[in-house]
Amino acid sequence: MEFQINKNIMSMGSLEVITGSMFSGKSEELIRRVKRAIIAKQKVFVFKPKIDNRYSNTDVVSHNGETIEGYAVENSEEILEILKDEKDVNLVAIDEVQFFDEGIIDVVEELVDKGIRVAMSGLDLDFRGEPFDITAKLLAKSEFITKLQAVCMKCGKPATRSQRIVNGKPASIDSEIIQIGEKESYEPRCRRCHEVGKKK
Ligand code: ZN
Repeated sequence: MEFQINKNIMSMGSLEVITGSMFSGKSEELIRRVKRAIIAKQKVFVFKPKIDNRYSNTDVVSHNGETIEGYAVENSEEILEILKDEKDVNLVAIDEVQFFDEGIIDVVEELVDKGIRVAMSGLDLDFRGEPFDITAKLLAKSEFITKLQAVCMKCGKPATRSQRIVNGKPASIDSEIIQIGEKESYEPRCRRCHEVGKKK
């Protein structure tokens, strides 16, 4: 009996997640992987949630200003809609994955089942230091994980937390929505320097 190579195994998809705090270089790393795939003449699609309007509507932009063209989508279903007639897609990259709806998990698994490599970047923890549900589930389901660290703005040590500051003070644990007139900012902090204000 002749040995036959299973073609399904040859084109097996995979899931990779780049995670870490804000300013840890997640988007830069995702863009780096996208660029490498483009150099290798692979068919690449880049998506990000429309909610993230910080710099541009259609480009994925990292803090160091590097850009790659991509689709800003309203929800996870739109990704399947855009890809439905595309053949031989090699890489699907998704930025800011923590902002997607719960359906993104099924969408991503469907793409992987079709033999596509899916690479995502997303925050692991919110400003309180609690996991983002979507990222936590994707991390558990992924083949490859890259966890990046920023630099703590207080002590200079590696930072794993995103400090939310409202009106110059650490945001309190129950502060979900920013009131009109409030100023908020974020900075990377280490576990020790990360502060969360008590309930108001
Ligand atoms: Zn620190």
